[in-house]
Amino acid sequence: MTMSRRAMRLGLLAAALSTVAVADDAPSPYPWPNGARAAVSLAYDDALPTHLDTAIPALDRHGLRGSFYLVLSADTVRTRLADWRAAARTGHELGNHSLFHACSARGADRSWVAPAQDLDAMTAARVQAEVTLANTMLHAIDGSTEFTLTVPCGDRNAGDGDYVAGLAPHMLGIKLGAGAVVPDMRTLDRYAVPVAVPVGSTGADLIALVEAAGRQGTMVNFTFHGIGGDHLAVPGEAHEALLAYLAAHRDIYWTATFREQMRWVRDVERAAAP
Ligand SMILES: [Zn+2]
Repeated sequence: MTMSRRAMRLGLLAAALSTVAVADDAPSPYPWPNGARAAVSLAYDDALPTHLDTAIPALDRHGLRGSFYLVLSADTVRTRLADWRAAARTGHELGNHSLFHACSARGADRSWVAPAQDLDAMTAARVQAEVTLANTMLHAIDGSTEFTLTVPCGDRNAGDGDYVAGLAPHMLGIKLGAGAVVPDMRTLDRYAVPVAVPVGSTGADLIALVEAAGRQGTMVNFTFHGIGGDHLAVPGEAHEALLAYLAAHRDIYWTATFREQMRWVRDVERAAAP
């Protein structure tokens, strides 16, 4: 990041903090940029073709930015790297979703996990090495130097224990665990930000979650997979309705990349530290 961008960001943060009313008897609202009531993170996992063909063009049409969590071994990273680089150039985030998407193979819904990608058969050190190498590859793809992670399948335990905690020094933020709307920004753990995984939702379902975040004054995290196709899909019309709503209410909802949002949250943490 250049000094001027950093200075601008700190200036915006100072302005946001100064506009927050201080009352002894009520918690002050969280100081999102430009007086926004809540933040919205639109994230897309697994580097699917419909991200490049449907989601990114829709986001661009509405002037919104999303976070695309690449599995670096996914087909599109090999066959459509120029398209991913173009998305990064227009301001979308290419996030870390590991090299091989290691998940536990245990459980009825995990028959798709190949033995070579079975998290239970790996050590935590091995998975950490995989994820930090994915940061290096993302840097090689788009030049980024700060990273966020979505933990594959939300599974944090390798065969010999937790692998996620040790990754905190390498990440600005980590999406992990279930829960669409953050209950309280001031107690949020940036390394375990809960997400909703919509499947087959309507536009009204998605917009209702955004409005709930507005009432809470916090943030809502959507982790999409396919958009109008591919696996765990949300219909293209539902996604479009959500984007149209967010574009029409930019003054209320700060839709930005998770990387930008976690930089902001980190800076608020630092400003509040004694
Ligand atoms: Zn995934």
